[in-house]
Amino acid sequence: MRLFRRRPPAGLPENWVEIVERNVAYWALLDDPEREQLGELMEALIEEKRWEAAQGFALTDEIRTVVAAQAALLILGLDFDWYRAVQAIVIHPSDVITYEPIPGPAGTMEEGPFSLLGLADHRSGPVLIAWDAAKANARHPAWGRDVVLHEFAHKLDMLDDVVDGTPPLHRPEDGPRWHDVCTREFELLQDGAGWPLRDYGATDPGEFFAVATEAFFNLPLQLEEAKPDLYEVLRDFYRQDPGARVRRRAAAS
Ligand SMILES: [Zn+2]
Repeated sequence: MRLFRRRPPAGLPENWVEIVERNVAYWALLDDPEREQLGELMEALIEEKRWEAAQGFALTDEIRTVVAAQAALLILGLDFDWYRAVQAIVIHPSDVITYEPIPGPAGTMEEGPFSLLGLADHRSGPVLIAWDAAKANARHPAWGRDVVLHEFAHKLDMLDDVVDGTPPLHRPEDGPRWHDVCTREFELLQDGAGWPLRDYGATDPGEFFAVATEAFFNLPLQLEEAKPDLYEVLRDFYRQDPGARVRRRAAAS
């Protein structure tokens, strides 16, 4: 077995590998170059973004490291610039209560208060994360949900200024297929044929993209089998193949 060794990147705690190994199940699926890359992205997230705790709560190395690892995973095949719209990451101990109106279905605004596990505010606003949910999700990918992947996926979607379930695609010619596949799958989810996607993805196309992202990373084999076209467009966008990682890991053990 090869041991993963490298000096801790600046900004990460000495024992960051140990923290990630213990808390982030996904770590086991990554190979050494991916782990190294993950560490670099985590370092950039911790150094370059503002991290805040909700009132009465305090950030720890564990919190920053686990949230940064999950957020870094999302852009492992992209690069750090994809988080240019993330200014701040605000961690709450548990559900976030917001009194702000939030967008509802079909362009309406709904009045608070709301209890949320996370929130990705429009454009340059902060990403809010409930730590208890983030921690549980990182340990249990088989639940198919992940608040960190979900909220940071919204941030990618917002890069073109509209939360419409379509982040900036790498090639304009990919647009028609992306729209065809996502529209079809969004409608299937609304009709109750969305498995393994969570029903919440039927709320609107923006939520569809965030929910599909959660399944793509956490239930890749199920998604690939049930919805191969959706898997493929997400694989091409994220430039990652989580299903191949699961197979590689299974073959090695
Ligand atoms: Zn959402």
